[in-house]
Amino acid sequence: MAYDFDLFVIGAGSGGVRAARFAAGFGAKVAVAESRYLGGTCVNVGCVPKKLLVYGAHVADELEQAAGFGWTLEEGHFDWGTLIANKNREIERLNGIYRNLLVNSGVTLLQGHARLTGANEVEVEGQRYTAEHILIATGGWPQVPDIPGKELAITSNEAFYLKALPRRVLVVGGGYIAVEFAGIFQGLGADTTLLYRGDLFLRGFDGSVRTHLKEELEKRGLNLQFNADIQRIDKLDDGSLKATLKDGRELVADCVFYATGRRPMLDNLGLENTGVELDARGYIRVDPQYQTTAPSILAIGDVIGRVQLTPVALAEGMAVARRLFKPEQYRPVDYQNIPTAVFSQPPIGTVGLTEEQALEAGHKVQVFESRFRAMKLTLTDIQEKTLMKLVVDAETDKVLGCHMVGPDAGEIIQGLGIALKAGATKQQFDETIGVHPTAAEEFVTMRTVTR
Ligand code: FAD
Ligand code: NDP
Repeated sequence: MAYDFDLFVIGAGSGGVRAARFAAGFGAKVAVAESRYLGGTCVNVGCVPKKLLVYGAHVADELEQAAGFGWTLEEGHFDWGTLIANKNREIERLNGIYRNLLVNSGVTLLQGHARLTGANEVEVEGQRYTAEHILIATGGWPQVPDIPGKELAITSNEAFYLKALPRRVLVVGGGYIAVEFAGIFQGLGADTTLLYRGDLFLRGFDGSVRTHLKEELEKRGLNLQFNADIQRIDKLDDGSLKATLKDGRELVADCVFYATGRRPMLDNLGLENTGVELDARGYIRVDPQYQTTAPSILAIGDVIGRVQLTPVALAEGMAVARRLFKPEQYRPVDYQNIPTAVFSQPPIGTVGLTEEQALEAGHKVQVFESRFRAMKLTLTDIQEKTLMKLVVDAETDKVLGCHMVGPDAGEIIQGLGIALKAGATKQQFDETIGVHPTAAEEFVTMRTVTR
């Protein structure tokens, strides 16, 4: 049967755009449908605007440090409206770049909501299209627990477009987004409290990292409330919000920001018209080649709920394009040792196993851990400490994990990700000449086993 397209991609986010562009480059006839914004979550309400706001908040640190280096500055004034307007302009520029990337690759771009009407058929704006392969790359959406007053809360989607910086913010959650936004709000001057339901935030990260970040955030004056969760939210007469916690405490703020995870975006997608099944957590079930339970339909990125990071969605999109249209170049995505950063203040960079995971996996573990005050701070009164940690297999000498909390952690961990992928040993770390004077050189100079 002749189809309209070889590949029909639903969602022009990180994964969808990558798959579409490369498939078209390999000679396939490709369409992409996008209902909201080109570039998806990452470009519009994720990684990119988030990092711009983190940079904005970080300026406060630079200003604080300036006096130590002899600079006398007049009292600074921060204007939220300027930051958001400049951020919006940059996002619009990126939207245009994504449009050009797609169009110049020969991809047919369809604006509108796409709904599956069959195993090889999609409907967009009342028009039906057939395709040999359909790729679902619809991403995710913030999930707020069903509590009374939840409509009074905002999520990351709205935070990027707030008209003004709230004076008092309650951030709920203990994952990437909660920690990053708590740093943004607080860094820009809001009185910020982070509420997390468990004993310690960032579950799944290395224990030393979690404890170290907690201590550093508290030093900065962030109000961390663990074992705390909101039962209901009410609007007060003066417009502020009262959060009643499960333990009975009442907190008043101008903004309640929820970052309690994301659900797969399946709204009105028409899965019922196909054989696509969901897994136990509600994400699209796929096999190792991203094929769903309907053979002509594939899925990648946040909607399959594996690793919700842009570079992973990109790698999955690339793998799909290659497998379908350039099989001789196909290589499966390597989910081992994915480096990642949390852009908290200070940031986290991490790759490989945590100490806890290494022990659980049965490794005989050697830990090298170092805490020090970064050189840049020595001319200031700031007492922030950087943490660096290596988790090593005592029997093979292989470095199993590298973890850091401190300035530029994300930048530093990228290179260590290559070392771990190459299977580097601690001896090879030791034999690597440091770059002096940097903080990063500590990763090749740690000699004493801490545990
Ligand atoms: P998305 O990028 O979400 O794209 C899905 C697209 O599909 C969207 O454009 C959507 O409008 C469209 N769509 C959905 N349904 C339909 C439909 N039926 N018809 C047509 N179009 C549809 N990751 C990092 O690696 N680093 C970071 O620093 C980082 N920061 C983040 C910060 C925040 C606040 C958030 C929310 C996420 C962040 N992420 C980060 C995660 C990253 O954004 C996601 O992992 C990534 O965007 C997933 O890509 P995707 O292609 O699966 O989906
Ligand atoms: P996460 O899954 O990272 O964290 C969710 C947090 O909310 C956890 O602390 C969780 O607690 C808590 N939580 C979940 N449900 C509830 C509930 N009902 N009540 C109270 N607390 C709850 O999700 P995020 O929303 O922070 O981010 C989504 C994903 O986006 C991340 O996992 C990451 O993959 C990606 N991302 C990546 C970034 C980066 O690379 N820098 C930045 C931002 C997002 P518990 O641990 O107890 O379950």
